[in-house]
Amino acid sequence: MFPGNAYSSLLHRPRTDLCSVTVTGVEQITEYFHRLRFDDGGLLTGRLVHPTMSASLCFDGPTGPHRRSFTLVDPDPAAGTFAVEFAVHAGTASRWAQSAIPGDRLSAAITGPRFELPRPGADGWLIAGDATSLSAVNSLLEAIAVSDEPDVPVTIWMEYGRDDEFTLPLRIRDDHRVEWIPRGDPAALVDAIAAQAFAARGYRGWVGTEAHSAPLIADVLRRDYALGAGDVTAIGFWAHAGVDARLAQAAG
Ligand SMILES: Cc1cc2nc3c(=O)[nH]c(=O)nc-3n(C[C@H](O)[C@H](O)[C@H](O)COP(=O)(O)OP(=O)(O)OC[C@H]3O[C@@H](n4cnc5c(N)ncnc54)[C@H](O)[C@@H]3O)c2cc1C
Repeated sequence: MFPGNAYSSLLHRPRTDLCSVTVTGVEQITEYFHRLRFDDGGLLTGRLVHPTMSASLCFDGPTGPHRRSFTLVDPDPAAGTFAVEFAVHAGTASRWAQSAIPGDRLSAAITGPRFELPRPGADGWLIAGDATSLSAVNSLLEAIAVSDEPDVPVTIWMEYGRDDEFTLPLRIRDDHRVEWIPRGDPAALVDAIAAQAFAARGYRGWVGTEAHSAPLIADVLRRDYALGAGDVTAIGFWAHAGVDARLAQAAG
């Protein structure tokens, strides 16, 4: 597993292996959550897939190329396919996703370090996310489900901004504990997680939330839940308005 703060290494990571990916299908899960299927144009050729795998997609922005990271859903190198689930808001990538049709193309490059479940496995998982990281959380849950320790306790805190986000397809088991926390006060998610602290040494943490809260949640997991320094992965998935969005992306 890569260390908790992958910030600086990713900031300088070169974007290599650009491929042209093509939309092959569009599915509206809710009004604000769209799943697009892609032909990979060779993006996955020779790649080992891993949970939370992501790609940088390049959109036509108002002032030039607009690159943003997105999680690959069901990446299949043999078939040369993957999907992306867009949590729609007011942004260039979101707008593109809302109007995309089969045949539309983007350039794409695999980004981010390889993420693997620890061996031996964790004693449990503490996971924090939101609609933008739902695909990553699901890929993590699937990896846990097929691991040697599929039955360890899993707690998931999901921040939500819209009521219909409760219906999003979170791939949980009956024994997983899920709590939905409304977005509002930026500290609400951090405080809610801190308020439920218990001694969780031996657990692993994964955080994919707004860029300010991600490191704060990671601190809470280390300090209040007693997770090891290297046992928490925290990624800023997006940034509130007014924050340089490229900075948030760099943390991923
Ligand atoms: C590793 C990684 C994987 C990711 N995977 C996914 C994924 O699978 N699906 C997904 O939907 N997103 C994912 N994201 C988040 C996505 O990259 C960002 O939300 C990105 O900012 C969207 O780009 P945009 O062009 O739509 O908006 P931008 O141009 O970046 O931002 C426009 C405005 O919208 C605001 N904004 C940005 N994102 C959000 C948001 N989620 N909610 C509310 N306001 C927002 C910004 O503050 C800004 O004011 C991922 C991020 C990382 C780092």
